[in-house]
Amino acid sequence: MHIRDIFAAHKTTFSFEFFPPKKDEAWDDLFAEIVCLQGLEPSFVSVTYGAGGSTRERTHDLVVRIQKETKLTAVSHLTCVCHNREELAAILERYAASGIENILALRGDPPRDKPNHDRSTDAFRYAGELVRFIREYAGPGGRPFGIGVAGFPEGHPDTPNRLKELDNLKAKVDSGAEYVCTQLFFDNHHFYDFRDRCDLAGIKVPIMAGIMPVTSKKNLIHMAELSAGSNIPAALLRAIERCETDDDVARVGAHWATNQCFDLLNNHVRGIHFYTLNRSDATREIYANLGVKNSSRLRP
Ligand code: FAD
Repeated sequence: MHIRDIFAAHKTTFSFEFFPPKKDEAWDDLFAEIVCLQGLEPSFVSVTYGAGGSTRERTHDLVVRIQKETKLTAVSHLTCVCHNREELAAILERYAASGIENILALRGDPPRDKPNHDRSTDAFRYAGELVRFIREYAGPGGRPFGIGVAGFPEGHPDTPNRLKELDNLKAKVDSGAEYVCTQLFFDNHHFYDFRDRCDLAGIKVPIMAGIMPVTSKKNLIHMAELSAGSNIPAALLRAIERCETDDDVARVGAHWATNQCFDLLNNHVRGIHFYTLNRSDATREIYANLGVKNSSRLRP
């Protein structure tokens, strides 16, 4: 099913994001976890696309396995960094043949082991060009792919000015993106302001809020690296500082994220996207706190 059809049928969507594990041993554990999460009836799940090499193939394998062996709708992330046209076309053709209907189209960042990667050898410089490219391809059954893009409530570190950033996001939507999924944030005011600014800029597609619960002090550092530009509020930092163990941090993180989600739901968010980092216990806890199972099936 296309994500746009899921948005059309549901008042609010709930989705989970995973990444393909590098080690074979972790593969079956993750898949068992995903199968278990089916019970929460997420609207869809998505799988990230790595910076290079074998992890890229693993994204394909995980997405196709989810599609074939579960009842979940799977979205594949796809980045244009370090890819030429032929490679991107081959990926889309394989997805079409496997029944994968939805792509989250991204620029990506050069891999850490190739910080000086020459981007002039890539087919596309920006995600918007990738959106246009995907639009030209027939997905499963000859239907176009469903396409989503990324948005940054607190700004993308590469953009020199926030007005220009919204122009760039609008261009991605005008090129064919059907929804926006945001970078993680800890203060909902940033999301509401971003949503308003999108509205003013004429971006009318659904905007999903990206939520990632803090699960440990180490994970907080990882999150800060992943989301350069997202502010971690002092109140959250203080609460984490008071914790003695990682279990305490995880409780604080789940509590904070639950409050964010309640507030988002009360403010008519169209979707909540959980960055699970492949550890679904926190997501499960938040889900249980919200009592959302089945309410996500409400008609708009
Ligand atoms: P773009 O939309 O191309 O924007 C990148 C920068 O260029 C921005 O500053 C933008 O304002 C500017 N820009 C855009 N278009 C133009 C233009 N026409 N002219 C001038 N400037 C322009 N990374 C991965 O590697 N794999 C993943 O699976 C992955 N999943 C993600 C999922 C979500 C929901 C999010 C929010 C991010 C994800 N990322 C992922 C990270 C993302 O790839 C990086 O943040 C990347 O730096 C930006 O990607 P983008 O698609 O927003 O790029």
